[in-house]
Amino acid sequence: MKEIILIKTGEIALKGLNKSSFEDVLVKNTKWRLHSLGQFKFRKAQSTIYCEPQSDDIDLDEACRRVSRVFGIAAFSRARVAAKDFEDICENTLDFLGEELEYAATFKVEAKRADKSFPMKSPEICRELGGRILERYHHLKVDVEHPDVLVMVEIRETAAYIHGKQLPGAGGIPIGTSGKAAILISGGIDSPVAGYMMAKRGLELCGVHFASPPYTSERAKQKVIALMEKMAEYCGRMKLFVVPFTEIQEQIRDKCPEELFTIVMRRFMMRIADQVARKQDCGALITGESVGQVASQTVKAIACTDIVTDLPVFRPVIGMDKREIIAIANEIDTFETSILPYEDCCTVFTPKHPRTRPRLDLVEAAEQALDADKLIAQAIAGIELVEIKR
Ligand code: ATP
Ligand code: MG
Repeated sequence: MKEIILIKTGEIALKGLNKSSFEDVLVKNTKWRLHSLGQFKFRKAQSTIYCEPQSDDIDLDEACRRVSRVFGIAAFSRARVAAKDFEDICENTLDFLGEELEYAATFKVEAKRADKSFPMKSPEICRELGGRILERYHHLKVDVEHPDVLVMVEIRETAAYIHGKQLPGAGGIPIGTSGKAAILISGGIDSPVAGYMMAKRGLELCGVHFASPPYTSERAKQKVIALMEKMAEYCGRMKLFVVPFTEIQEQIRDKCPEELFTIVMRRFMMRIADQVARKQDCGALITGESVGQVASQTVKAIACTDIVTDLPVFRPVIGMDKREIIAIANEIDTFETSILPYEDCCTVFTPKHPRTRPRLDLVEAAEQALDADKLIAQAIAGIELVEIKR
């Protein structure tokens, strides 16, 4: 019995002339996510993408789970393929949806006839197939408003497809169709969520993480890798650049006023991320900042950090409460990893009283004590590249 996955694109359908190239990227991304499960063939027709497993031993449950995490897919369904013959459609419907129907109280049949040469019209298919279902399951009632089980029959060019209710997809637009951006990723709750949100808008991501060994441990770095592996279920393959940050932090501690430590440190992060991003062809930076959450996330502090980069800085969680951010972290399964208790470089040498309204001229004056260009060049030369796969 052959089953396939029918994929419905969402926003892509609105892309007019670009629609086809958006769909091509979506197919490429989906193919990549599924390739380790076996071979699939993809076909586009009538705003549906047909994703057909090429062998019987492919794990379709896992394939559906992966498809549900591909951006650009509004909805999908696992469908049974039947011949364009009413008897075969009935037989397959009862076999494929029988178990669901057995435990349901109500149902409804919907039919779509894209192939107008099929001899029965849609209302007739619904009526006749509904009758067959009632013959088999006497306890069932038809409910056209809120059925427990929706039986969908689509008569298309090459075959008939039978499926239940469509499942929701991940939404958004395909990764890569908006270009690339670098996410500044800590081991915290917010930055993985921020990365996920921008990937949903079609950005391919690379990660930049600042590590300060021995103040931060190897386990803290592994935690960031683990977080990105979770993100990769949605965001796809990514490169992670781990930047050695110890020297810079020690120099700031030794040479700058304590209350400006955090803001100067964040400006260095931005400068380095800017350079990494440009080398990787990224058009933007992303952070997990949210206004007022901590001293470095006041409006004035954000203004002081933004000014060191010409790239747009996307902060998708800027107006969100921690609770709202946590809800998304749970949805994408990063929360439990994020709360593991390892140090981040941001919590190393934190001043007792950080400036919440730093003055740019004083920050710039404080940085005069440092050889910024040299420190940045050294840090960049020491970057470790980690390939994140899933
Ligand atoms: P998160 O939960 O993402 O760690 P946070 O609330 O702890 O955020 P901060 O520690 O002030 O906030 O960091 C704000 C943002 O700065 C983070 O969301 C992230 O984008 C970036 N950032 C912080 N620490 C690092 C780091 N070690 N490496 C890379 N980026 C970092
Ligand atoms: Mg943090």
